[in-house]
Amino acid sequence: MTEQSNLDRSTRWPYLDGEVGEYSYSRFDHPAGVAAERALGALDGGQALLFASGMAAATTVVLALSRPGNTIALAEGCYYGTSMLFRALEPWGVRFVEYDQTGPPPKHADLLWVEIPTNPFLAVPDLDAAAAHPAPVVCDATAATPVLCRPLEHGADVVLHSATKYLGGHHDTLLGALVCQSDGHYTALRELRKQTGPVAAPDIAWLLTRSLKTLELRVRRQSASAVELARRLDAHPRVERVRYPGLGPDPLAERFLQGGFGGLLSFDVESAGAARRIETSTRLIANATSLGGVDTTIESRHRWEGDRVPPGLLRLSVGVEDVESIWADLEHALGTP
Ligand code: PLP
Repeated sequence: MTEQSNLDRSTRWPYLDGEVGEYSYSRFDHPAGVAAERALGALDGGQALLFASGMAAATTVVLALSRPGNTIALAEGCYYGTSMLFRALEPWGVRFVEYDQTGPPPKHADLLWVEIPTNPFLAVPDLDAAAAHPAPVVCDATAATPVLCRPLEHGADVVLHSATKYLGGHHDTLLGALVCQSDGHYTALRELRKQTGPVAAPDIAWLLTRSLKTLELRVRRQSASAVELARRLDAHPRVERVRYPGLGPDPLAERFLQGGFGGLLSFDVESAGAARRIETSTRLIANATSLGGVDTTIESRHRWEGDRVPPGLLRLSVGVEDVESIWADLEHALGTP
């Protein structure tokens, strides 16, 4: 168990007899960051680095692992912001192609990017097929968390977390993390973070150390509730489709199922209008973006992602409230057919 140390907000620490000590300048590292990185590294089985957001972590790993002329193979249906980032980086000569992560990656790729499970489609990647490819593998495990999957044990080189979600877990920490398998990747990423400066602030890193103490408890409860809600939604006449790993036969998901597969699920209703009515009718469940926190949230992803998602797709991030209360709210919002 990591001790929760006092919070040191210093930006600089005095030299010791004219020599740089353990800490010198907080853009390089700071005590709260190092404590949280140790705790997360132990959970994921690698060496962790914190960033100011998930996207800051994503930008840093792309810059470190790709060169002009390279092709990134990005799993279809990954977090929308990842493809937006890759598009923004195209003027620097890095292109990306999308591929179905449940099968083999394209041969010509220089970097593979998979997500377990994809947000908001909930597809689980074939990690063995990715690991068999010669290119480095980045696995965004934001929705799985190290409680359900430790991708470094399945051949990934770098794990990415939007720690804003489950790791922080309380809707109050904007934070990203990379966890590395090799010393080489860790050193390169740490050096680039130092040079480009997207470090996490001490306060937020300190909150992560606090939150990691309850991560497993939260994720197991959210998973158990999500399985129950997925089953009930699947049987509801207003619901056309439920997307949740393991709800139907899925050998790729089955190896990771532990009673459930996290608190994130999506379900489709008949139209954008129906989705709007449902998301604005809940009382306990917040109509808000983001996911992975203690409070249940629902939103239509069409507002952000346009035609990439079906107009009636609603993403539900199951919190830690009593499952019967969440269901009662959903049932009320769905209405009677
Ligand atoms: N990866 C996934 C799967 C996400 O859901 C998100 C944010 O929603 C990100 C990365 C980006 O993280 P952040 O919002 O912390 O920058």
